[in-house]
Amino acid sequence: MAHESILVVEDEDDIRELLRYNLAREGYRVAAAASGEEALKAARESLPDLVLLDLMLPGLDGLEVCRALKQDAQARKLPIVMLTAKGEEADVVAGLELGADDYVTKPFSLRVLLARLRAVLRRSRAAPPLETEAVAVHGMTIHPGRHEVLIQGRPVDLTATEFRLLHLLARRPGWVFTRGQIVSRLHGQNHAVTERAVDVQVVSLRKKLGDWGKYVETVRGIGYRLRE
Ligand code: CA
Repeated sequence: MAHESILVVEDEDDIRELLRYNLAREGYRVAAAASGEEALKAARESLPDLVLLDLMLPGLDGLEVCRALKQDAQARKLPIVMLTAKGEEADVVAGLELGADDYVTKPFSLRVLLARLRAVLRRSRAAPPLETEAVAVHGMTIHPGRHEVLIQGRPVDLTATEFRLLHLLARRPGWVFTRGQIVSRLHGQNHAVTERAVDVQVVSLRKKLGDWGKYVETVRGIGYRLRE
């Protein structure tokens, strides 16, 4: 049984109670807040293991709560999973760029929501491999030191930018990176990369990966991830 604590932030009573009930049944310790202001107070005081944050809140909205938590010396490391409605892709992108970890779109299936929460809690316990460490995933091995990608032992010829893009995604399989995040991580090498250029790099990377290209997934309206 899990004993991690989750702070549920949702102004709609029915959804909040449904979440509270089901998360408690899964063994989580659950606290709930019905407004952004309450959420900030509860998060700062109790430092839960995860914040499940509805974006559409009256008053201080979810993005403002996210921003405030990420600026808080203590609360900034709290994993945040956003609850969003369909069509809020721009808010999801903003939230991910503010440092939220993941998102679930309403209406959600409880099974999917629980799986996402477990994944975020698991990832937050385990630090991602260092930028200098080799990553092995789906039969691909990515060696940053040697600047080498092997697929089932065979080398793949990538440009420096394609290599860094693949390594970025592969260090955190399942994690969604927005174009903006990818731009800022790839920036600083030989030349500046634009968001549009990220799309072009992805197309080229997929092509070079052949059958493995399918693991580089597009998350519509949000960005890219390596399949978990
Ligand atoms: Ca709401």
